[in-house]
Amino acid sequence: MERRFRTSTADGAVVEFGLVRHATLAKLASGQLRCEDVCDAHPELLRAARNFGRRTGETCPVCRESELVEVTYVFGARLPAGGTCPATRAQLLKLERREDPVVCYAVEVCVECSFHHLARKWVAGGRSRRIVAAKGVAE
Ligand SMILES: [Zn+2]
Repeated sequence: MERRFRTSTADGAVVEFGLVRHATLAKLASGQLRCEDVCDAHPELLRAARNFGRRTGETCPVCRESELVEVTYVFGARLPAGGTCPATRAQLLKLERREDPVVCYAVEVCVECSFHHLARKWVAGGRSRRIVAAKGVAE
């Protein structure tokens, strides 16, 4: 579990999208989807992935050539409309401790073939701030 960039959000409100990914890959394997349908990461997402994507230790399931990296986007009040992309875990934790609630999306990206998918979504900040602080960064 430590290879994952797990959040310390705490109310257990992390939504995992593994099943969606599984279904997507199954459709790809059966020909219902083409590589172009799932390997269309936006240039900005690819740039973020190259610059500060976190290693996942997992080989891309589509091209099998490159390691998937994970990029987190955080949305919330007084943050850029397109979300902000914390480069480090410390920056993410700071965002998660904001007084205003934030919504975080972790996206897995392959910089080789542009495969990308939403891995997890969670809510932090706001009223969960105290719980996050109490839990600390240890996982
Ligand atoms: Zn790939």
